[in-house]
Amino acid sequence: MRNNKLAIVVPCYNEEEVIEYSIEQLLLILNIMIDDELISQNSKICFVNDGSSDRTKEIIEKKCAHNHQIAFIDLSRNYGQQYAILAGLNTLNADIYVTIDADLQDDPILIVDMVKKYHQGFEIVYGCRKKREADSFFKKGSAFLFYKFMHLIGVNIRQNHSEFRLMSRRAVERLKEYKEKTIFLRGIVQNIGLKSCNLYYDETERLAGKTKYSFFKLLELAWAAITNFSILPLRMITVVGILTSFVSILEIIYALVSYIKHYSIPGWTSIIMTIAFFSGIIIMSLGIIGEYLSKVLIEVKNRPLYQIEETVNL
Ligand code: UDP
Ligand code: MG
Repeated sequence: MRNNKLAIVVPCYNEEEVIEYSIEQLLLILNIMIDDELISQNSKICFVNDGSSDRTKEIIEKKCAHNHQIAFIDLSRNYGQQYAILAGLNTLNADIYVTIDADLQDDPILIVDMVKKYHQGFEIVYGCRKKREADSFFKKGSAFLFYKFMHLIGVNIRQNHSEFRLMSRRAVERLKEYKEKTIFLRGIVQNIGLKSCNLYYDETERLAGKTKYSFFKLLELAWAAITNFSILPLRMITVVGILTSFVSILEIIYALVSYIKHYSIPGWTSIIMTIAFFSGIIIMSLGIIGEYLSKVLIEVKNRPLYQIEETVNL
């Protein structure tokens, strides 16, 4: 057991209010595990600075200078949490990887239990929130709708699992085989299919600072989840197409009957309504096709997912 190197990956974006406390807490937990011989002496906590504009980088660098257990990866700009985590997983060489948010809303002491699960043979351990009491009404509501919708379209993702999880080296190697550029990690990890289990915990309030997930960042993530893991929006066009064709047949019959029976002049209103109805559907369909097309474009461009400016103590 004591030969297993653990790497704790912590994405950080403008976390100057909490980062010092998080470093202390995580170091404490790391050293408890080293003392208990659950992990190797050379285990590390790696902070990935995701283009912070505050003092986050400065604080981590200072800590790094005095402690070789702290590693640091600095990204060239803000890429988003998903990419910051991926940068850590791809760059570090370890036997066990744990990812956790910098604000420690996920109970970090659970890392010990996660590592114990790893030693029992689990290759992926998902941290799952029992309740989301610390979240705002909006976040709780949108998360509830998101999970309901994903289940409805047949995508099976773990309820209330954030990015707090343990992965074995093998799991991370498999993750690297996924070449897609718009990332929804929770979906991909679940797709890997190694022996896994859940650990439940109570989510706490952020230690300090505000959420770094704006409404648009959250929306982008949800959209990546839907379009990466489901073709249902495309299939819906077909269904809508069949239904509208059926309706138009009825309309044609109605128009013919009106003509034969010499009813009043063909209705202007119905024409306008028909045009409006179909132009709506056409634009909506084009929009959905466009979404998928834009993803193809991104994949074809094959840009690097991130550029690392600097690494320390790796
Ligand atoms: N984060 C990041 N890049 C971003 C946004 C967030 O690295 O563009 C990090 C952030 O520093 C934190 C984690 O991702 O460690 C989760 O963010 P946050 O706690 O703000 O999200 P919430 O818990 O409100 O969903
Ligand atoms: Mg948080």
